Amino acid sequence: MNQKYVLAPYVKVGFSEKGLELGFGSIQSTITSPQLQNSILATAAYFLSPHSLEELVGFLKNDYQLDDISIEEVIDVFRKKNFLIEENIYIKNERYSRHKLFYSLSGGAPIGVQHELSNKHVVILGCGGIGNLIGVNLVTAGVNQLTLIDNDLIELSNLTRQIMFTEEDVGKSKTAALSREFQRRNSNVIINVLNERIDSKDKYDLLPSCDLVVISGDSNGIMNHVNAICYSKKIPFINVGYIQDVAVWGPLFIPGSTACYECFGKNNIAHSTSSKKDISEIMRKINVNYQAPSIGPVNMLASSLATLDILKFLGKFGTAHSIKSRIGLWTHSLEIEKQHNQENPSCITCIQ
Ligand SMILES: [Zn+2]
Repeated sequence: MNQKYVLAPYVKVGFSEKGLELGFGSIQSTITSPQLQNSILATAAYFLSPHSLEELVGFLKNDYQLDDISIEEVIDVFRKKNFLIEENIYIKNERYSRHKLFYSLSGGAPIGVQHELSNKHVVILGCGGIGNLIGVNLVTAGVNQLTLIDNDLIELSNLTRQIMFTEEDVGKSKTAALSREFQRRNSNVIINVLNERIDSKDKYDLLPSCDLVVISGDSNGIMNHVNAICYSKKIPFINVGYIQDVAVWGPLFIPGSTACYECFGKNNIAHSTSSKKDISEIMRKINVNYQAPSIGPVNMLASSLATLDILKFLGKFGTAHSIKSRIGLWTHSLEIEKQHNQENPSCITCIQ
């Protein structure tokens, strides 16, 4: 096929002590051979206007007298790091143009990724800080449809991190305010609202068929209920949140492909029961007083890293790191912890 390409706009060139640097950050190539440097620079300039690879071969043969092996070498440099994009992929003022460059940089086919996203329906279960931030990122990225599930009203203390809400929204429904704000940011997106709580398996019918459920609520047993419903309806889901200062996302559970939440070890959770009644009672009194700290930046970290994985999963590009892993970014130490999800062969929920 005579497909024409242009130099990806995210490619920069410059000389360093090591040689000619082509690209930037994670897509950088260093060209040390002086002969190759000239032809690489010439090729980069050649693709400032659209050309096919066949035309490039003619250009390098005629104007640079390169042999076939050297031409292969030049083409390899450009192809391996996604330095070239198909012509007409990048249209500066097009709505998703900068996202498309990111998909291309990550090895995805930009138009294909955008098309995938424009056909996806995501349920946001819990419309607090995480739901606000993941929701707005999905809406602005061009996901087709969101269903917002929550029955809470907005409180003044929510405004520190639930940044879609305004002071005028205090006392109003979270789903209604989010729906309004999301629609303002992308009127093409379909927003459904459900003022409910998924707090038991009986709520099975409430969960619409969709491509992904994002759980960002903390009601008791929510993971078990959603796990049971999602595995029986074959809907992927991911839990996103924080534990004190730790931003946490994943695992991204995919029925039919990964082990489920019931398989995922609960060995890290301390239990608060004792055979001694008075000790159990003391623990109960202490724990009933618990209130999770929550700060905007940690909500944002968990939400943004989770959203990147969600876009990769839904758009089918790059690697979603939370598939089979629960990832924690410890903000006090900037360490990353991964807990891997192992199959439990006797699990009755996911092993068929
Ligand atoms: Zn399981």
